[in-house]
Amino acid sequence: MTCSKIKRNPDEITIVAVGKGRGSEQIREAVEAGITDIGENRVQEAIKKYYELRVTDYGLRKINWHLVGHLQTNKVKDAIRIFDLIQSVDSIHLAEEIDKQAAKINKTQDILIEIKTSPEETKFGIRPQEAIGAVEEMVKLKNIRINGLMTIAPLVDNPQKTRPYFKMLKALKDKINELRITNYGLRILSMGMTDDFEIAIEEGANMVRLGRAIFEI
Ligand SMILES: *Cc1c(COP(=O)(O)O)cnc(C)c1O
Repeated sequence: MTCSKIKRNPDEITIVAVGKGRGSEQIREAVEAGITDIGENRVQEAIKKYYELRVTDYGLRKINWHLVGHLQTNKVKDAIRIFDLIQSVDSIHLAEEIDKQAAKINKTQDILIEIKTSPEETKFGIRPQEAIGAVEEMVKLKNIRINGLMTIAPLVDNPQKTRPYFKMLKALKDKINELRITNYGLRILSMGMTDDFEIAIEEGANMVRLGRAIFEI
């Protein structure tokens, strides 16, 4: 609906169903209903579901697994074995560790850089004013590929108030591409959750991360 209102093609928007706290059966149902991408917050919980939902003779489609929660460096080795996209790369140090571990298994790990667009002290992420410098450092790492940016908007009483944070992320991605820091260009803007995904899409999101909107219907 949002897409037709603002003339965007729904095919351009990837829905990541965030399955934290939900069992494999619920995730299986979502996949059978057409979901292709699953997001998880914790590595251990994701590994369990990953093995429970591996493609089987019964024909479960290939799932793209996304890590959307904070990643500790001591879990990187496990994370890179299962995740197709690590969305929550929130420091150069973490990017370096991912690069190092990915090199060992001959993988180029797709990542997003998590940007702390909101001033809340509790959130993880690289500050917007440090983002360009961070991309300049991370682009040197051969075993990661920076696919785009991710942000979590602050909790607000009215979703309209999230708009400036989404605008900021979009502008940052455009700026990084304009400067041609990576020779491939950043493509993904992962922003918007159950309470604010419509506004995020209006502001240019092409990936939304939905938990309650998918699993509590
Ligand atoms: C839980 C979570 C979501 C989904 O939240 P909902 O509000 O249930 O849609 C999205 N992104 C991240 C990083 C999360 O932790």
